[in-house]
Amino acid sequence: MSAETHEFQVEARQLLQLMIHSIYSNKDVFLRELISNASDALDKLRLTALRDDALGADVSDLHISVETDARARTLTVRDNGIGMSHQEVVQLIGTIASSGTARLLRELKETDDADAAAGLIGQFGVGFYSAFMVADEVTVLTRHAGESQGTRWVSRGEGTYTVEALDEAPQGTTVTLHLKPVDVENQLNDYAQDGKIREIIKRYSDFITWPIRMAARTAAAAEQADESADAEPASDDFETVNSMKALWARAREDVSDEEYHELYKRISHDWLAPLETIRLQAEGTFEYQALLFIPSRAPQDLFTQGHSRGLQLFVKRVHIMDDCEQLLPSYLRFVKGIVDAQDLSLNVSREILQQDRHIQRMHRRLTKKVLSTIKDLRTKAPENYATIWREFGKALKEGLLDDHENRDTILALCSFSSTHATDEPTTLAQYAERMKDGQEEIFYLTGDSREAIENSPHMEAFRAKGVEVLLLTDPIDEVWVTAVPEFDGKRLRSITKGEVDLGSGEPDTDETEHERENQRREYSGLLSWMTEQLGEDVKEVRLSTRLTVSPACLVSDTHDITPALENIYRAMGQ
Ligand code: ADP
Ligand code: MG
Repeated sequence: MSAETHEFQVEARQLLQLMIHSIYSNKDVFLRELISNASDALDKLRLTALRDDALGADVSDLHISVETDARARTLTVRDNGIGMSHQEVVQLIGTIASSGTARLLRELKETDDADAAAGLIGQFGVGFYSAFMVADEVTVLTRHAGESQGTRWVSRGEGTYTVEALDEAPQGTTVTLHLKPVDVENQLNDYAQDGKIREIIKRYSDFITWPIRMAARTAAAAEQADESADAEPASDDFETVNSMKALWARAREDVSDEEYHELYKRISHDWLAPLETIRLQAEGTFEYQALLFIPSRAPQDLFTQGHSRGLQLFVKRVHIMDDCEQLLPSYLRFVKGIVDAQDLSLNVSREILQQDRHIQRMHRRLTKKVLSTIKDLRTKAPENYATIWREFGKALKEGLLDDHENRDTILALCSFSSTHATDEPTTLAQYAERMKDGQEEIFYLTGDSREAIENSPHMEAFRAKGVEVLLLTDPIDEVWVTAVPEFDGKRLRSITKGEVDLGSGEPDTDETEHERENQRREYSGLLSWMTEQLGEDVKEVRLSTRLTVSPACLVSDTHDITPALENIYRAMGQ
């Protein structure tokens, strides 16, 4: 039968032009796309065969195979999955099938900026056409399971393609790329090299649940990999390159700590084992599995802009994106891990995730799960809790400002230095238990260091009366205390603000009240003179009972901002 020539649909042609001129720098992803198509095709065949006994397809050894030929400069990705009929080839490959790709194209049209366009392609994924980033000709040989005739599709991506019916073809789909030449500087990116292909498969497709096979490398061949690229291995000599381990989809008791740790190290680039492993399985209308890790130490850049944050997103075992910020709030950016969703499109974009209600629900659920895990550790493994607080407490405290819904939970997780003990931080609940009779507020003082705070004149009366004060020394403390009014019905109160009622248990007698009145009269001349002298710098000079040693101290009104907060605002240019 002779080959017929077809033209690509207009949009398809535009996208192909982009691929051919490959503005996207990370070309490796083409292989991920081809393998994920192959994996989908195997999934579909398995499902179809389960539903239809009469299909007559061979499902005994479903797998993907990848073959490099350095001499011919070809790379072949083969699957024995569902395949495509003649009509499907024209429909699916000749037009832009997936709505995700169509959207990508719309957005690409709106940017003239090459970098922005490259970013868009990276986010959307570009499916089958991405083969043209690395190939100057692509051949697809395919036969739909259960049909007898096959189809060959060939294109150079330049506007037309040919299709031809074949009497014989193996079940499934074989995609052969004729690779573009590589320039000398780019030898390492030669997709005709076995080692390069293995590396990409390991990186992007390790968790594909179907075996991905490549020709086995003998020890000798591996050693002289470069020269022996054309040495033919025995035809049955194959090995599976991917581990196929989707740990998050296996029953918890079937996975060892070592396996979790190995995965953690790979996704986090941290060589220490994680402190805590969290698993979550959601069933129902929006199914997903999450495998999260709390590291045992904070990365150095946790507080710098551009710190990589977020989880890896998989869709049905296919890696979709790193640093998926839509899955957890910013203050939990130290959490690493993987979320595998069953009901998302492989072409899902960050914008789509942002608006998806299922993702928002997942975000809430994952957040609560992480917080409750940390909370449980406080009683079950106090040392681990202490480590988490030491390493990530500052980040968690951002949640007091950002996350109204979970504010009380986060507040209950917090630990603070206090005058109660020098080496052991206290939770607010513990503080509350130690509150004196008649004390109704939780007192704190913010400052640069514990020492600076302890030397503050404001502390004197509290020390004298034995009233506990929280010593808050993180810059963020200045900010959250203004947003959090109380804990468990007890007001949080800065000891520098307004009149503080120490409720010492000794009610003011008429005598002391009388004495104060006398003092006020006696010093009123001095006070108004001082108020005048200090002029603009203070609002008022008044007598105080809060000092025992220092002659004077500065006090703000209850609603004034603290000096340190003033500094923060000033630094932010406000
Ligand atoms: P997507 O996978 O997002 O649908 P692609 O551009 O990757 O977009 O593929 C387009 C379509 O071509 C697929 O939806 C599928 O129907 C078909 N296809 C691609 N590769 C294969 C394959 N190996 N086996 C069967 N069908 C395939
Ligand atoms: Mg695809």
